[in-house]
Amino acid sequence: MKFMDAHVHLKDRNDEVLDVDALLQEMDASDIERVFLMPADSRRSENERMLKEVQGHADRFILFAFVNPYHPDCVEWFEEAVKHRGVRGLKLHPVLDAYPADRAYMLDPLLEVCDRYHLHCIIHCTSDAPNSSPLQMERTACRWPNVTFQMAHMGGCWLANDAIKVCQRNQNIYLDGSTVSLSAVKRAIAACPDRFLMGTDVPFYHFEMEKLKMKLAVSDPVLFEKVTYGNMRDLIAERGLEL
Ligand SMILES: [Zn+2]
Repeated sequence: MKFMDAHVHLKDRNDEVLDVDALLQEMDASDIERVFLMPADSRRSENERMLKEVQGHADRFILFAFVNPYHPDCVEWFEEAVKHRGVRGLKLHPVLDAYPADRAYMLDPLLEVCDRYHLHCIIHCTSDAPNSSPLQMERTACRWPNVTFQMAHMGGCWLANDAIKVCQRNQNIYLDGSTVSLSAVKRAIAACPDRFLMGTDVPFYHFEMEKLKMKLAVSDPVLFEKVTYGNMRDLIAERGLEL
């Protein structure tokens, strides 16, 4: 059985080196066929390192640029990375980079690029007030109906039920269960079986931990295949994320 993982960062695990080769070994050992890969923060140097290191592995990694919308040249840099460097999506972190997830004038220029190139956008979505709630993310996703959005951490500890409702009423929103409780993941899969994606948040967690969580959450084998593989495969195909 093969798996796909919608939330992986290229970053060492404390003093354990987790470069591209080590990450591929960890993926192989856990039968992870493909991942959405992003740096661990929005520093340009981290993005550049990822783009350099993953050369030659387009079959395993779908690349997301981690962009800080405060950077003055971020739109030009992002579009260039989409056009010429294999980037297939945008990662935003309203908590780490300190802006509200619905601040349209900051995000629209980046999302306009996503719209034009039919891309997928991952937004960190937790209960860290006041920047990253599911309702704030919904306002942004509603402005861009032709972009698909992934609620990373689906509202965190306290706002998972909001995240599930937002996902139910917006066809362009997906939930990623990384770092979220087992009970919230069960509710999310029951409510949105076609738009739930397994995500581990490697290197902070481990593929085997998330696979076990998914096994505990889903007993039906057909549904298990969808949420650990099929939904992400279909999203990749629909978006044309395969290079
Ligand atoms: Zn993460």
